Amino acid sequence: MSCRNINNRKVNGISVNFECIEKESLTEIFRCPVCMDILNDPMKTPCDHYYCKSCLFLLSKSADCCGLCRNPLDFSKCVPASNIIRETINKMDIRCHQQLKDFNERICTKVKELFTKDNNDIKDFCGIWTDEEDSPYNKYFNLAKEEIESTCSKVLKLGEINHHLLEECEHFELCCRYCNDYKGFRSDILEHYKVCLKNPEVKIDCPQCTESVFAVKLEEHKAKDCPEEFLLEQQ
Ligand SMILES: [Zn+2]
Ligand SMILES: [Zn+2]
Ligand SMILES: [Zn+2]
Ligand SMILES: [Zn+2]
Ligand SMILES: [Zn+2]
Repeated sequence: MSCRNINNRKVNGISVNFECIEKESLTEIFRCPVCMDILNDPMKTPCDHYYCKSCLFLLSKSADCCGLCRNPLDFSKCVPASNIIRETINKMDIRCHQQLKDFNERICTKVKELFTKDNNDIKDFCGIWTDEEDSPYNKYFNLAKEEIESTCSKVLKLGEINHHLLEECEHFELCCRYCNDYKGFRSDILEHYKVCLKNPEVKIDCPQCTESVFAVKLEEHKAKDCPEEFLLEQQ
């Protein structure tokens, strides 16, 4: 696998990697001359050359001629590429190349998780560290490393990449849809949803009366229904 097959583009402001597994002749035609990745939101110049919309816009700010043929370049005279071009690009076969980040933060949790999966007794875990090459710790460390460093590798059409990343990729970092403060990979986010105080389905115990209430309704509960709050006010 050659490196120039790995392409990059921004989805929701996050830079993502994918590998083009289409015939080389096809990928070459649809490569942007500025970013060298497969065209994203392609535009056509009056001189019949194609660029990503954002790359063309930036190029037109810094140069007054087309980077390929030196003909005059005016962004306002460029047009969106035809539907046939867009559809051909969207139908290209790609492989998602997203990878988890924060290796050091993840490795310990992952080693522990794999260890307990096999041994179902966490109290042995602290005793498994040794310097020996084939020690149990090294075995679990290597398994964990492999899992963290693996890439998504799902094969799909380029036009499906946004949906894949936002709805199914385990290796894409998402923002919490409720609080916007939390960012994490799908498995982290699903854990976070169980405790996010902005999630309308999460319940917590009222600190005053200990009744279980929806976290987003806590203030309302305190103001209206909480018996303890009422007593506090009376004192
Ligand atoms: Zn580009
Ligand atoms: Zn040109
Ligand atoms: Zn993926
Ligand atoms: Zn949240
Ligand atoms: Zn209460």
